[in-house]
Amino acid sequence: MSKALIAKAEAQGNHLELGELISLLNLTDQEALDELWQAADRVRAKEVGEDVWLRGLLEFSNFCHCQCEYCGIRADNRSITRYRMTEDEILAAAREISAAGIGTIVLQSGEDAWWTGDRVARLISRLKIEHDLAITLSLGDRTKDELLLWRSAGADRYLLRFETSNSALYAKFHPDSTLATRLNTLAELKSLGYDVGSGCLVGLPGQTTRDLALDLLLGRDLELDMFGVGPFIPHPDTPLGGCPQGSTEMTYKMVALARLVMRNVHIPVTTALATLDADGREKGWQRGANVVMPNATPPPYRQQYELYKNKRCIDDTLKHCRGCLGGRIARIGRQVGQGQGGSLRKAGRTNE
Ligand code: SF4
Repeated sequence: MSKALIAKAEAQGNHLELGELISLLNLTDQEALDELWQAADRVRAKEVGEDVWLRGLLEFSNFCHCQCEYCGIRADNRSITRYRMTEDEILAAAREISAAGIGTIVLQSGEDAWWTGDRVARLISRLKIEHDLAITLSLGDRTKDELLLWRSAGADRYLLRFETSNSALYAKFHPDSTLATRLNTLAELKSLGYDVGSGCLVGLPGQTTRDLALDLLLGRDLELDMFGVGPFIPHPDTPLGGCPQGSTEMTYKMVALARLVMRNVHIPVTTALATLDADGREKGWQRGANVVMPNATPPPYRQQYELYKNKRCIDDTLKHCRGCLGGRIARIGRQVGQGQGGSLRKAGRTNE
């Protein structure tokens, strides 16, 4: 039974139905799981090739006015030191990303109103003048005017996870927004021509296997360019601090199925997965993923961007990470992507 279903997923994963996805997410037999990993790896090779793309992650402000219940930098957490990098500090970090041969900078922050539309647009313009980098923004739910301004200034991509497709669960953990708002922002990003990334968390308290299967179907229906899956890791200074962490095995199943269902998307191995499993990056790349986001945030800020505790590689420099990741990628027979590594969907690879 599982063999036939995995074969269908490999041939036509974008046509899998809800019940079939739930069955695949419920697999526990090691032989069947190995088949699932191998099917995802073959589809990854066919659809996106052997390149593993590096994206330099710059966490430039940990101020946030939101209260997402799982997040270590939520507004109510008074135990962390808040920071905002200056424009010059950000430009210096961008120089390091370029020097490391990485083609994309990911500008990430909490929802920080100090970074107005105009300030972010000015930063994007300066980055575009000084560097040949693709610019990915990850700044949360912002207004359509701001998104338009930043796209016009040169931003290429935007990451905005929907976290869970279950609207009741979404409302429970996100007191400041609704799933409908987030989906609306994702639609606006697409209409403005951004490459759009989204994704979900695995292991939120109360989340079911059916919810995860629906997350995959939502990701497919949104026709995304990128899809990220990370395990929930409880931060002790948040309302969910006492809850159990998400399962790494379920996260791998979600990565593999994201590849099988969405085919030609970019899929990162998340730092959260690498934090829970020392071999998480290699396993992720061999189970469907093709991206990694080394941390380019300079100290002491990188320690202060505390979404959760004990983040992997938190004390390593970007230069060290670049070398380490290059070695890990080569050891599994793959190669580091050269250039910016844009949307494969828009480059003409169909989702069939
Ligand atoms: S998840 Fe994002 S929006 Fe929510 S509190 Fe954390 S940084 Fe802010």
